[in-house]
Amino acid sequence: MGGERFDVLIIGAGLSGIDAAYHLQKYCPKKSYVILEQRQRIGGTWDLFRYPGVRSDSDMLTMGYSFRPWTNPKAIAPGEDIRNYVAQTARDEGIDRHICFRHRVLRATWSSQDAAWTVTALREGADGREEQVTLTCNFLFSCAGYYRYSAGYLPEFPEMQRYAGRIVHPQAWPEDLNYAGKRVVIIGSGATAVTLLPAMARTAAHVTMLQRSPTYIVSMPEQDRIANSLRRVMPAAWAYRISRWKNVAYMMYVYRLALRFPKFVKTGIIKQISKTLGSDYDVATHFTPRYNPWEQRLCLVPDGDLFEAIKAGRASVATGAIERFTEAGIRLQSGEELQADIVVTATGLVLQAFGGAELEVDGRRVNLGSTLAYKGVMLSGVPNLAAVFGYINASWTLKADLICGYVCRLLNRMDRKGARQVTPRSGDEQAVAPFVEKFTPGYMERAIVSWPKQGAKAPWRVYQNYLRDVWSLKWSPVDNDALEFSNPAEVPGISTSEAARQQVA
Ligand SMILES: Cc1cc2nc3c(=O)[nH]c(=O)nc-3n(C[C@H](O)[C@H](O)[C@H](O)COP(=O)(O)OP(=O)(O)OC[C@H]3O[C@@H](n4cnc5c(N)ncnc54)[C@H](O)[C@@H]3O)c2cc1C
Repeated sequence: MGGERFDVLIIGAGLSGIDAAYHLQKYCPKKSYVILEQRQRIGGTWDLFRYPGVRSDSDMLTMGYSFRPWTNPKAIAPGEDIRNYVAQTARDEGIDRHICFRHRVLRATWSSQDAAWTVTALREGADGREEQVTLTCNFLFSCAGYYRYSAGYLPEFPEMQRYAGRIVHPQAWPEDLNYAGKRVVIIGSGATAVTLLPAMARTAAHVTMLQRSPTYIVSMPEQDRIANSLRRVMPAAWAYRISRWKNVAYMMYVYRLALRFPKFVKTGIIKQISKTLGSDYDVATHFTPRYNPWEQRLCLVPDGDLFEAIKAGRASVATGAIERFTEAGIRLQSGEELQADIVVTATGLVLQAFGGAELEVDGRRVNLGSTLAYKGVMLSGVPNLAAVFGYINASWTLKADLICGYVCRLLNRMDRKGARQVTPRSGDEQAVAPFVEKFTPGYMERAIVSWPKQGAKAPWRVYQNYLRDVWSLKWSPVDNDALEFSNPAEVPGISTSEAARQQVA
């Protein structure tokens, strides 16, 4: 691969990249496309993360593709099943033939003169040697996820080097790690920590989840009984569609309720945990967060597995700040010392846009932090570029599906207008909010300033609302005052963009 030209170049062969390819094949069948994937397998997140118990924390009826029913009885599904679902979709649809593995996109430079992106990627050969290759495309579609793949986030804890046991990060789980009969401390209280705890507690001597402060944890049935019953009495596609809408409606209801009546929702969640763990358990210290529900992602645990492990005495929670590591474990500021043979640092991700690729438009580097997001999909002033960023309060795929459909509508609209370029123009619109609002987990707070911003009104808002996005991305007309359709300049003496505007107007 190298030197070729494609209509569309997709970065990433994860859940979104396969979704994008499916939509292109179906709705823009004449467009040529390629997927550049830095790894050697399909699946993205669901291939990378291999820690014990790895699973979805939203239901697969909404996290599955709109076009491919999720028929596995488990709605909260193991990572392996999700990986197989994505890979099988790619095989069944012939998408796998379009993927170039071991190609890491480094840079993309747009030329208005040619109405094309030149994409530079680092290709890793079978012998491990790397070489740069360049490709060109008319439209660049980033499905590279939202975090750095090379390494997760690891804060520097005092005297970590003194610790004699093994330290592992969930993003790089060692295949050979044997934790049976060992004492494990997991640092963290997010989705990964609450997944690891019950899974490791099955064979470990004891597992302690060490958190600085608590997270909202809600138990949910692993199987969706209504969805499974519907599948028995009607075609899978119908059952899937009904179950998907049922779950969309339920999640939207819960989210709205949490925003409008945070105290009510908070009390409900805490009461449920107290009931499960018993009145002796210190729920106030370990399971009562300082923030309101949904200010950070809510953690789901299937069939209360985390609480069961605690009740059975195989696991516990410690809440407090780390003073330092010791040779045998971790000492807290309270003076308590946790002994550990293994420490798992479930300390999170490093946020990263466009898979770390640099973007340049007509010789000028794009500073993402000073762009505005157009419909949460494109960037102001950057032609022929779209990216998938899913919901923080619902399944990622709901939005990925909408964005992929929207990009196809946009490409078809460009063809009908005879325009080779489309650029969102923000005009007087000002940045008034970060890309993701009212959502403050550490990984967001650490990096969100360098992400695109939101304006005050549509189409410069990024909604966390599926119904609004259905309208904005699926039903509302593609043409919009904020979208400039154009062609490369052919008229000497006037600027490229001015000439281009005149041609398509
Ligand atoms: C542990 C974990 C659990 C999660 N659970 C849920 C959940 O239950 N529900 C939910 O909705 N969301 C969840 N998410 C969010 C999750 O990332 C999305 O659900 C979904 O997997 C994102 O798919 P994606 O294809 O957009 O991104 P990814 O899965 O991240 O895939 C991106 C792909 O792009 C490739 N790539 C990146 N950069 C480059 C580059 N420069 N060049 C070439 N290729 C590149 C990557 O190798 C990867 O294959 C979870 C995330 C994590 C980390």
